[in-house]
Amino acid sequence: MSKEITLSSENKHVFQSSEEFRKDALISDPGIYQKAEDRLAFWEERASTLSWFKKWDTVLEWNPPFAKWFNGGKLNASYNCLDRHLAGPRADKNAIVFEGENGDTQMLTYKELHHEVSKFAGVLRSLGVKKGDVVTIYMPMIPEAVVAMLACSRIGAPHSVVFGGFSAEAIRDRINDAKSKIVITADAGYRRGKVLPLKENVDEALKGVAEIDKVIVVRRVGLDNAVQGERDVWYHELMKDAAADCPAEEMDAEDILFILYTSGTTGKPKGVVHTTGGYLTGVSTTHQYIFDLKENDVYWCTADIGWITGHSYLVYGPLANGATVFLFEGTPDYPAKDRYWELIEKYGVTILYTAPTAIRTFMKWGESYPQKRNLNSLRLLGTVGEPINPEAWLWYHKHIGGERCPIVDTWWQTETGMIMISALPGVTDMKPGSCSVPFPGVKAEILNRSGQPVQNGEVGFVAITEPWPAMLRTVYGDDKRYKDTYWGTWPDRYFAGDGAKIDEDGYFWIIGRVDDVINVSGHRIGTAEVESALVEHPAVAEAACIGKSHEVKGQAIAAFVTLREGVAAREDLVNELKNHVAAKIGAIAKPDEIHLTEELPKTRSGKIIRRILRDIAEGRAIGDTTTLADASAVEALQQIGKQ
Ligand code: ATP
Ligand code: MG
Repeated sequence: MSKEITLSSENKHVFQSSEEFRKDALISDPGIYQKAEDRLAFWEERASTLSWFKKWDTVLEWNPPFAKWFNGGKLNASYNCLDRHLAGPRADKNAIVFEGENGDTQMLTYKELHHEVSKFAGVLRSLGVKKGDVVTIYMPMIPEAVVAMLACSRIGAPHSVVFGGFSAEAIRDRINDAKSKIVITADAGYRRGKVLPLKENVDEALKGVAEIDKVIVVRRVGLDNAVQGERDVWYHELMKDAAADCPAEEMDAEDILFILYTSGTTGKPKGVVHTTGGYLTGVSTTHQYIFDLKENDVYWCTADIGWITGHSYLVYGPLANGATVFLFEGTPDYPAKDRYWELIEKYGVTILYTAPTAIRTFMKWGESYPQKRNLNSLRLLGTVGEPINPEAWLWYHKHIGGERCPIVDTWWQTETGMIMISALPGVTDMKPGSCSVPFPGVKAEILNRSGQPVQNGEVGFVAITEPWPAMLRTVYGDDKRYKDTYWGTWPDRYFAGDGAKIDEDGYFWIIGRVDDVINVSGHRIGTAEVESALVEHPAVAEAACIGKSHEVKGQAIAAFVTLREGVAAREDLVNELKNHVAAKIGAIAKPDEIHLTEELPKTRSGKIIRRILRDIAEGRAIGDTTTLADASAVEALQQIGKQ
């Protein structure tokens, strides 16, 4: 049992991992934080656990805001994820355990994955792909997607993975921005029993893109006409006679490993650039320590490879650590709402890493679904992507973790590359709703606009005050945007764009995006706080709050709320919810407006897009919607805006 050790006041539960968990934990000595005070020594020691062709000359060269980590060192990410595991018993250990939406399965040992990657890397080389050429990957969640990523890194071609749910327009923008000449895709993918026409989207995207040399198509569904003309080739035909003898290219530590565009929650996506040595050091260390990785774990990260979480904690971190990764193509509700729990039971998953949006959805459906399955194999849970409402944390802990599994709430960004703030489950106590404390070797603070640390409990902004190994190096092709966006607020300190508070124990509480912090009569209120209060109400499944201009107060709070399954909207519910928030947080946080709605506008990674709600509430034209998951959610909301 993980033990609840105090209940000091409302929403201030503190949990500690069980004695048993701590006893076996990889990191159980709190002295690690002290040890990592010497940041550079800590990261240098961590880097030395990777395989290098040549050792670095310097640990860090820092010309703000440009960093070089392990400069002069030579290594290869694909080599670190594959070749180096082949000498010992890991060679025959499963690297990937895959289940498709349609129920087909595949297992690939490290030896087999290495074989596939070497072959495909050779194929790419034979097609003329050279070190430094950007390759676009637009794939479903199938093993070939991982093969494609690692084949690119094997030959030093940076990949740019575009989420498979994106439209032709989003693909085109990213291909053009990255000046990519090769696209790897599939004929189609499966989603909720339907066929997603991926290649068709690529064809549409490539209209008007002059520079494309080749489109490589994996046969997933069996659409025979997916390959046409000179430009297109089938993956399986290229692989048929390919040799598996493609050695890994020696890359500089600072060579680009990949470009990845952010989720677009706050605006136009940015092409975030990550390099090789520091990134791999950061993701392998955080993956191992935060997920308490053991040799026989079956690790499942539900994120799509199109997001940074998929890059760092589905591919590079776990494979560099020699873990068994479970890869799933489908969705939690197909064919039934217990699919995740069925898979955990079937494969004996021990670590589950998912997002608050998924957890809130499971809560909305109710606990009968997980209760049908045996989830006893689980020993550790994680979340990422948005602040987790304490109510959702407690639900996850109880109904998925059996009150036995610690939960690591991990705060980080596409830009940070690696987890920056999180508990170490064998050491750090956990508070539902707080992402805990900075990882060893990471320096984070909450500052005000002028760069002063705020008082405990006061709202400020997350700052990273020292460079870290997996940090972005720039925005692709746009150093100015890099400087302005992240380094323009305070000299030499990274501006993350999130509002947060710190409590008396030094715990970080993320309360929303900078733009989402609401100012009511001079009081700064985080969207996460009001939303969490709403979600605590038994009728509410999800909530999103925004600040709406108000003549007297400056801003007033408007809330959009969806109800749990089976709850009918009562006439007095809106008032009840308003009073509920006032009782939980104080009269100042009482929403002026609450709108009940069927859906909230979300990005395709499942995050609530509050800027769209602001546009709706203020009656403005709605800004960029290319990253929106479901346009119909907005149409329904616009009716509210007109009321
Ligand atoms: P864009 O930058 O294009 O607007 P995005 O910020 O949603 O999109 P990501 O890099 O995928 O793109 O998300 C990082 C953001 O997600 C963080 O800045 C933070 O707002 C939020 N986030 C991630 N993890 C957590 C967490 N554990 N707790 C609270 N917020 C989190
Ligand atoms: Mg962001």
